Amino acid sequence: MSIIIPVFNEELCIERFLNDILSYLEESNISCEVIVVDDGSCDNSLNIITEMAVEESRLKIISLSKNFGKEAALTAGYDHCSGDLAICMDSDGQHPLSIIPVMLEKWSEGYDVVIAASEGRKDKSRIKKYLSKYFSNAISKISNSSIPAGASDFSLLDKKAVLAIQGLKEQNRYMKGIVSWIGYKSIIVKYTPEVRQNGETKFSLFKLLELAVNGIVGFSTLPLRLWFYLGLSIAMPSLLYALYLIIRTLILGRDVPGYASLMVSLLFFGGVQLIAIGVIGEYVGKILIETKKRPLYLIKYIDLKKSK
Ligand code: UDP
Ligand code: MG
Repeated sequence: MSIIIPVFNEELCIERFLNDILSYLEESNISCEVIVVDDGSCDNSLNIITEMAVEESRLKIISLSKNFGKEAALTAGYDHCSGDLAICMDSDGQHPLSIIPVMLEKWSEGYDVVIAASEGRKDKSRIKKYLSKYFSNAISKISNSSIPAGASDFSLLDKKAVLAIQGLKEQNRYMKGIVSWIGYKSIIVKYTPEVRQNGETKFSLFKLLELAVNGIVGFSTLPLRLWFYLGLSIAMPSLLYALYLIIRTLILGRDVPGYASLMVSLLFFGGVQLIAIGVIGEYVGKILIETKKRPLYLIKYIDLKKSK
């Protein structure tokens, strides 16, 4: 099996985490490759990992040329793993190792996708918790995919699911959405995240919002359709109102007052149109990025120890 670990500036916790995981694998007698994907760290993380990998044949390294983001780092891991299943874990110790046997058990029962969903995350601010919860619900509803509440990237994927993900080359990667989109027999296991061992979260509120927008835009065209419905529901009554005004003017003559209502409707519709253009722009921007077909990540250094 393979364990994939994305790492970005984790010099404070990576060594302890890798030691924990390697000794856990030893104790449980699991033969496994541990693929560490360095997502363009600019601290000492890569040095720590390469030093550890000299002594440890199970430790494999992919180092990306710059910070491409967690979703791209996971993609690099999935593209290069060779196990019959792949487990993806964060490098900060928040994903408890004790869930691995639970996941493996589900896999041996025949499940191809095991997603760990968090219950009660202690370290997140209230607003982040709120956003995570409601955005994943919203994305799930809007896109008709079933991303479970609290779903994390902590997951086990069978080889077939990994191959399916390797086949998806879209730039706009929202991994939780992708994992739910590919289907296969899946199940959710609950886990309580540990507190981050050290260092700080790499996901600011702004980054989370960006991820949420990517999730929605990447998996659904409903926001576009909503504007069509809104436009329709405004245009119909407007047409009737226009008819009424024309007829009234014809019968009663010119009616000069009405500046306030004119301004209000002008500003209102101006605003509505700008928002609509913004939503369309979001999709057009995504199309531009997709048409460039740039690689999802570039590798600076790779050591998969295949020849050893
Ligand atoms: N990470 C990454 N690239 C990034 C941001 C984060 O590879 O651009 C990794 C990070 O090193 C960690 C995991 O993704 O292993 C989760 O990040 P973090 O703990 O900061 O997120 P949170 O737990 O707060 O959601
Ligand atoms: Mg974390």
